[in-house]
Amino acid sequence: MSFSPSNAVRAARDETPAEARSMSEIAGAIRVGEPGSFAALGNAFLTRLPAAPVPDPYLVGLSREMAESLGFDPIVATGAESNEFAAYFAGNPTRDWPGELLPYAAVYSGHQFGVWAGQLGDGRALTLGEVSAGERLEVQLKGAGRTPYSRMGDGRAVLRSSIREFLCSEAMHHLGIPTTRALTVIGSDLPVRRETIETAAIVTRVSPSFVRFGHFEHFYANDRIDHLRTLADHVIDRFHPHCRDADDPYLALLGEAVRSTADLMAQWQGVGFCHGVMNTDNMSILGLTIDYGPFGFMDAFNAHHICNHSDTQGRYSYGRQPQVAYWNLFCLAQALVPLFGENLPEEGRAERVVEEAQKVMERYKDRFGPALVAKMRAKLGLGIERDGDDKLANGLFEIMHANRTDFTLTFRNLSKLSKSDASHDAPVRDLFLDRAAFDAWAAQYRERLAHEPRDDAARAEAMNRVNPKYVLRNHLAEQAIRRAAEKDFSEVERLLDVLRHPYDEQPHYEAYAGLPPNWASDLEVSCSS
Ligand code: AMP
Ligand code: MG
Repeated sequence: MSFSPSNAVRAARDETPAEARSMSEIAGAIRVGEPGSFAALGNAFLTRLPAAPVPDPYLVGLSREMAESLGFDPIVATGAESNEFAAYFAGNPTRDWPGELLPYAAVYSGHQFGVWAGQLGDGRALTLGEVSAGERLEVQLKGAGRTPYSRMGDGRAVLRSSIREFLCSEAMHHLGIPTTRALTVIGSDLPVRRETIETAAIVTRVSPSFVRFGHFEHFYANDRIDHLRTLADHVIDRFHPHCRDADDPYLALLGEAVRSTADLMAQWQGVGFCHGVMNTDNMSILGLTIDYGPFGFMDAFNAHHICNHSDTQGRYSYGRQPQVAYWNLFCLAQALVPLFGENLPEEGRAERVVEEAQKVMERYKDRFGPALVAKMRAKLGLGIERDGDDKLANGLFEIMHANRTDFTLTFRNLSKLSKSDASHDAPVRDLFLDRAAFDAWAAQYRERLAHEPRDDAARAEAMNRVNPKYVLRNHLAEQAIRRAAEKDFSEVERLLDVLRHPYDEQPHYEAYAGLPPNWASDLEVSCSS
């Protein structure tokens, strides 16, 4: 079955005949410029403009869960409205945009590959506004045309990268990893030039905020401390109001970024996720995974894996991600310095401020290290804490690296090992070429498991809740993309369905949990998107 608009329409009609939200209701729920919103910060922060229309938009993928969370579900009841839905989320106005309701592109700057890049900004993203659905969520189109921040770019995104972003946003959410989300991907046959000619697509992204480290760097670099403060106040008021109770609310804000970023890194490392472009403009102030480009979930484990073909130096390799995040936090801290210690006496203020900021930065290591060890304990099924657990985990990573064993399968299959006898080791052991190395590690592991009160079944159950069976492997995304290029969107729909339950056994989807096929080793993912 292909996931064409008409199928979506039929499904929506079958499930929920009566209460479908019309497109005008959906559009009406997305409000721009409400008090307290990013848009209300004013013109120094953004430029308002309409999206550039695309010809004949069509629905490629839809996250019903996201739609539901936005209060958009049940959606689009009739054929005409389905077309309106695709048109609306392609950025083609289905109504006139009254001036004050125009969407906007935000300005930010950033460090790219360790070098100050100056002004960047939403070069191809337009935020439509906010939906209040319990939480206030911003709704943003990516790929909706040029903006004043497009520089040399065409303002577009291609179908390939849009499907990857759509699927991975939702997959990360279901893995329990903080992320921006995605509502839909809309395609158009509009040609887009990259290495070859591809076609355009627009992803609707959803997030409580799209504010990046680079937003703060922008106003710091331009010496607009007034705007810097406005932005920091916005983030504090909306997301961390308790920072107001701290001696220094802005230091407390940095502390929140340190904490959430450290936690995020432990989560990424724990599933073998590589972001690929950890520039400071791609770092969320809320510690969300943001800007899915040349990302990848590792198949064969390599501690130095580089998922981005354009990253020739391996700056953003798997093993370096936690360190790079720390470096990026320093850029953020630097940008926030003018706000620190406002209540301190002038005398000695600068020194005190640096001292205090350094203390906050130190917390990164105190947070990330234990968070990663806790993650590894859970992945190994260790319910109690013992000295040497980190060594045991590192020992596994070493032999995984030496044998290039599959990251996801190794951890998933580890739950099948028995505490007491080695005859059940095959599902993991067979992934290693060097069986002796695995046996030596497994002996230590079993020794450690002897201290665990849980039996094998209880341990396996707990492990399967933290070691996903299904992740968005490159070859899976590639298969969905190839079909979608032929206007068959069924694989996008199926993958989304598989990835909604990454920790469950889904026997009918067993093939999605397997090793990548040989052809997948040729897949390259670059910054081109
Ligand atoms: P990225 O590395 O994709 O996060 O993008 C870095 C910067 O380049 C951001 O300011 C993007 O908005 C901008 N950018 C990337 N691709 C395009 C494009 N095709 N058109 C306009 N701007 C783009
Ligand atoms: Mg970006």
